[in-house]
Amino acid sequence: MQVQRLSLPSYTLTPPNVSPSQQLSSKILKLNPNSKSGFCDSLKMVFKSPTGLRSHGGSVGVMCGVAQQEDTDDGFYMRRCVELARKAIGCTSPNPMVGCVIVKDGKVVGEGFHPKAGQPHAEVFALRDAGDLAENATAYVSLEPCNHYGRTPPCSEALIKAKVKRVVVGMVDPNPIVASKGLDRLRDAGIEVTTGVEEESCKRLNEAYIHHMLTGNPFVTMRYSMSVNGHFLDQLGEGVAKSGGYYSQLLQEYDAIILSSSSIIENASIPVSQEAGANQPVQIIIARNSSSPIQIPALTMEPIGKPIIFSDKETTVELERAHTGIETVVLDQINLEAILEFCNSQGLCSALLDLKGNIGDFEELLQDGIAKNLLQKIVIEVLPLWDANDGGNFPIALKSLRKRLEVKNLKPKVSSENVVLEGYL
Ligand SMILES: [Zn+2]
Repeated sequence: MQVQRLSLPSYTLTPPNVSPSQQLSSKILKLNPNSKSGFCDSLKMVFKSPTGLRSHGGSVGVMCGVAQQEDTDDGFYMRRCVELARKAIGCTSPNPMVGCVIVKDGKVVGEGFHPKAGQPHAEVFALRDAGDLAENATAYVSLEPCNHYGRTPPCSEALIKAKVKRVVVGMVDPNPIVASKGLDRLRDAGIEVTTGVEEESCKRLNEAYIHHMLTGNPFVTMRYSMSVNGHFLDQLGEGVAKSGGYYSQLLQEYDAIILSSSSIIENASIPVSQEAGANQPVQIIIARNSSSPIQIPALTMEPIGKPIIFSDKETTVELERAHTGIETVVLDQINLEAILEFCNSQGLCSALLDLKGNIGDFEELLQDGIAKNLLQKIVIEVLPLWDANDGGNFPIALKSLRKRLEVKNLKPKVSSENVVLEGYL
């Protein structure tokens, strides 16, 4: 397989079909520190002032009454850790999202989360927030504290130095250079250690990180929309791409999105997350058997992503506005393995396979993905409509999959008027 990179002129990416007034309001949203979904606003506050940590929730003392049921309390504080960790959604890759809460005499005295790779870990922020009150306190951490010198000193040492009495951990770190060593170090120092509290939610929080750490492959989720009569639909439900909608949140969460070039051309836009301050995914555009040049739509706002075109021939990219470079990767055959290899080389730990546009573009990717177990998760959006077509538009690629697949842990949720099913392959 030959991989050839071509450097082509690039352009400025902007959210699609956004009117000037909408652009303005989205900018206002990003700058509004009171925005509930503005997790990156919170991050900015963390950087501005270490004591500002409390301003996004850490100062709220949580009284638990008589702490008779330690287990119940442990679950409560661990759920708060997960909530804190999620403030950095889409920002920490290749690191995990981690939250930490320091509790003394039934009261939260410190909170923190890991904002971004290269920044201090959650424990450091929480201990800083707690100050001297950390002594004899209980530290709750959604993931085992690290015990190695990376870009930051080990958190196990920081907890020992702060003289915490007890450490409660959501899950053991799957990273082989951490795995249980952090816990051993804490126990050796005489600290009481409890593990596996709210383990399921801690694992779900970092499902992409865990998968990547264990397999070396990015975590891949396949997404598509369908009608209530089971027909594949090449459209999103009303409201799902807006801020707070499941689709906008998926774009925020994943490091990369894999798209058909036809969906970009037809919609004259590249999907972007509308969550305030969202880190936009790298857009991997599949251009298969493309005889005509790919026309990239003219987009006008600030750069918000980095598109890469995967083609099986040296496709020309037509740009209505030429700016800086778009990368094109030419492969003999476009397959999921090659794309995931590329993701790995770019430090991208998760990818959303977004089945829209010309589904034929995904045929080889899906067959390859299912045959080699490269797909981990499935997200299906059911739109509240009965489709008039005869169902002949269901993806050929999916029809030709003759393998019976079990979907584990299938769960529904609601986004606007639509039902979204999530499960694991
Ligand atoms: Zn650490």
